[in-house]
Amino acid sequence: MAHRFTYNPETCKYEPIIVTPKAFARKSFRFLTVTFILGVVGLIYYNTQYPLLDEVRLAKENQNLKYDWQLINSKLKATSEELAKLEDKDDHNYRVILGMEPLSASEREAGVGGQEKASADIENPIIRAGIDYAEKIKNRLTVEIHSMNALKKQLINNQKQWAARPAIQPISNKELIQLYLVYGMRYLPQDGYSRPHNGLDFVANLNSPIYSTGDGVVTYAKGGTTYGNAVFVNHSYGFETRYAHMNRIIVAEGQQVKRGQVLGYVGSTGHSFGPHLHYEVLYQGNFVNPIGFFQRDLTNIEYEKLISNAHGGAEALD
Ligand SMILES: [Zn+2]
Repeated sequence: MAHRFTYNPETCKYEPIIVTPKAFARKSFRFLTVTFILGVVGLIYYNTQYPLLDEVRLAKENQNLKYDWQLINSKLKATSEELAKLEDKDDHNYRVILGMEPLSASEREAGVGGQEKASADIENPIIRAGIDYAEKIKNRLTVEIHSMNALKKQLINNQKQWAARPAIQPISNKELIQLYLVYGMRYLPQDGYSRPHNGLDFVANLNSPIYSTGDGVVTYAKGGTTYGNAVFVNHSYGFETRYAHMNRIIVAEGQQVKRGQVLGYVGSTGHSFGPHLHYEVLYQGNFVNPIGFFQRDLTNIEYEKLISNAHGGAEALD
């Protein structure tokens, strides 16, 4: 046992302090008790006042993740709303203009259900719902892109169709002297019988220009029949126009022509009673009244002129 010493002035010596085992045990016990109590109190205080450092860091990280997630979700929602506007415009605007049916709900939802979801392995329900939402937007977007491509195709087709369709007068109002609106069966007193007049007669001076009323291909350009010198134009989409009694033809069979292009000049060749253009429109091989194929393009003044020039009687110039 190690001894502690004390100085004895009487003996002038350092003498060991004798500590009895009992006293030592008492002292040790007191020391341990105080230490233990202080330790317990300190631990309780620390645990109640200070969360673990890791916990603090994780809580902060968690909060930040929540903010980020809210941001992502709000952006997804905004994207979905923009897409919904586009889908609505597509269905109720573009498709109506282009004469197409709107997409059905099942077409819009195409590819959304059925297949295994990309989020199947994700445990967190909030994250899983978010990923499903994003996936749904992606599928809607794919459907919309296909729809836009179909619209574009239809638009190009419609533009071609509009360009091809007979839609203007074959004789300009500047040149037009008189328009005979006789169409259909009419009685010919000089012949003593009725026969159809399948077109309209535009009276104009000799050699006034005759315009193609739509884009197309010249399928006939010659003389020799009751039509005299005549040009036929095939416009596709079921339409054909015929221009008869020309003085001179300036296009050839097989030639592509544009709307407004000069095909030839007014004459009185074939079965005709004076310079005029006999104009016919055929749809799917049947004669139709050409009046429905240009009046919409005229201004009111032009239309008034057409009406006042028109003769509703039994006359026609053939
Ligand atoms: Zn005629």
